[in-house]
Amino acid sequence: MLGKMGLKPFSIYEINELTHGEPDSPRIVSFKMRPKDGQKVTFIPGMFSSLFLNPNDKLFRSYSIASSPNEDYLEFMIELINGKFTSQLAKLKEGDEIYVSEPRGAFLFDSNGGGKDMFLAAGIGIAPFFSMLRYLKQMNQKKDIYLFYSIKHRDDIVNPLELETYKALGLKVIYTVTRDPDSIPWNGERGRINIKMIQSHAPDFAHRTVYLCGGIKFVKDLVEELKAEGMKDEEIKRDIWGE
Ligand SMILES: Cc1cc2nc3c(=O)[nH]c(=O)nc-3n(C[C@H](O)[C@H](O)[C@H](O)COP(=O)(O)OP(=O)(O)OC[C@H]3O[C@@H](n4cnc5c(N)ncnc54)[C@H](O)[C@@H]3O)c2cc1C
Repeated sequence: MLGKMGLKPFSIYEINELTHGEPDSPRIVSFKMRPKDGQKVTFIPGMFSSLFLNPNDKLFRSYSIASSPNEDYLEFMIELINGKFTSQLAKLKEGDEIYVSEPRGAFLFDSNGGGKDMFLAAGIGIAPFFSMLRYLKQMNQKKDIYLFYSIKHRDDIVNPLELETYKALGLKVIYTVTRDPDSIPWNGERGRINIKMIQSHAPDFAHRTVYLCGGIKFVKDLVEELKAEGMKDEEIKRDIWGE
């Protein structure tokens, strides 16, 4: 299939590091891998690759790259949901081989654009934003960005301490929990990200380039809400996961 799309099907990578999430979110696992041929892979933050477990497999899944293009490895942040593919991924160990397609996609971060941005992420939809933020930090580039990050529970935040460090670049993070009961103390927002929440933190949102990443309902609902506020389709970049 990838061949038909004019892409080299895949390269062989070795898994070098497997890091499981915090005790409260053990399903999120970071997979760091390096190409066995030592070739540096080039990509733009926001792109994804498809992973295969065996060279002849028809089964593959796509994952956003979470590492910066400046690294000699690729990192993927994957939520192991015990589905067809993730149940197989869960069995992998450091040192195992995995087959990775060339990065591709249209969800491309414009790091040089002088404008302001707004990142909207749901759950593990945060992954491509790590690539973008890590890249900015390595390039020592400041950017005015709001990140609205929705998680089910307060302990689901991926790499909260790392996200803190990006405040120095100009990042403002608004966390919102969607499933924690009110009895659990929490300083952030509650409920799904919606236009009211966006307006209250980022009144200039309509003058920002929007990057949206998450499941289909999350993305579609927010695109509708942003368009209803007068934003143009081309100002809203989106990466939709799922059918
Ligand atoms: C461009 C792109 C980038 C993606 N990047 C990432 C990424 O960085 N990290 C990541 O974890 N996933 C990412 N995904 C989703 C990934 O491709 C798989 O769909 C996911 O890992 C489930 O695969 P599976 O075979 O285990 O589940 P399946 O057996 O295919 O599906 C099980 C069901 O679970 C649903 N589902 C998929 N993901 C989740 C989830 N996180 N929580 C709850 N239900 C879910 C599916 O819609 C389906 O209904 C991305 C998808 C696309 C298209």
